[in-house]
Amino acid sequence: MERVVIIGSGPAGLTAAVYAARANLAPVVLAGGLYGGQLMLTTDVENYPGFPEGIMGPDLMARFREQAERFGARILNVDATSVDFSTSPLTVRTADEEYLAETIIAATGASARWLDVPGETRLRGRGVSTCATCDGAFFRDKHIVVVGGGDSAMEEALFLTRFGRRVTVMHRRGTLRASKIMADRARSHEKIDFMWHSVVEEVLGDTHVEGLRVRNAMDDSVFDFDADALFIAIGHTPNTAIFEGQLDLDDAGYIASPDGVSTNVEGVFVAGDVNDVRYKQAVTAAGAGCRAAMDAEKYLEALEFRMVEPAF
Ligand code: NAP
Repeated sequence: MERVVIIGSGPAGLTAAVYAARANLAPVVLAGGLYGGQLMLTTDVENYPGFPEGIMGPDLMARFREQAERFGARILNVDATSVDFSTSPLTVRTADEEYLAETIIAATGASARWLDVPGETRLRGRGVSTCATCDGAFFRDKHIVVVGGGDSAMEEALFLTRFGRRVTVMHRRGTLRASKIMADRARSHEKIDFMWHSVVEEVLGDTHVEGLRVRNAMDDSVFDFDADALFIAIGHTPNTAIFEGQLDLDDAGYIASPDGVSTNVEGVFVAGDVNDVRYKQAVTAAGAGCRAAMDAEKYLEALEFRMVEPAF
């Protein structure tokens, strides 16, 4: 039986691993077939404290991993395929193994939604991004397109006005889904303009974004539109499929937690984007991983104390 099994290996999962390993809990990390989480899909990370020159996302995650392994975390590049939290010990299964654990840290993250159009994957990190905070500064004085009509799109567009000379919000409908306050802020910003009923059909460019092929959803006409960068802000999907029916999820599918650490199941803790609709930053996820590991450690201590307490 394991003391701690951590599901997920982004900044939250691997920080939890560092803390749990240093607490001598020999954590097992089910890292997924591709370890490292969303930062593995980014290029330069310039806002992670401690790296004044910036660091490539995959390099940062390799360092997280090395640090966790240095203290004895066992990091396995396998996907958790199902969990059973109805009994104690808690159970996590992969394709080949079953792990029994006293505590679990769920840190499976969230995945940004992509448009799934030609050119998008090829130009990811070369002008196509889902994170303005991470990549906005690379597009100083450029024309930036943001796709989406929700609060995230407004927030990204407003943030990107710090860098771009012009920011175009491209939305597939004629009305925004965003809250009025966010929509008003974006609408009244001098650098932001809107393109309605517009659907990106293709991202153009060989080595970097040079434009977009766009379809007008009203009359189906197709045209090319100049752009230097494309920020996709059409929502995130929390990676909670394996927890359905096992943990309480909120309306948007994120793991519900009253305090951002505990869940409705004793011994199961949550960390990072799988519980975070708001910040979604590597550094906030890392902080959440630290908190989850510390609470798991406290929980295990309390469990031991209960076991040795005389029964009268
Ligand atoms: P969202 O509210 O679900 O909005 C997603 C937007 O993307 C919608 O406008 C949607 O279009 C569009 N979209 C979805 N799939 C698309 C596709 N394949 N192609 C083109 N457009 C597509 O997601 P969100 O903006 O990420 O917000 C998620 C939650 O977090 C919301 O509750 C939001 O209020 C909250 N949030 C709040 C703040 C804030 O208050 N500062 C900031 C960010 C997020 P349709 O409108 O046509 O469906």
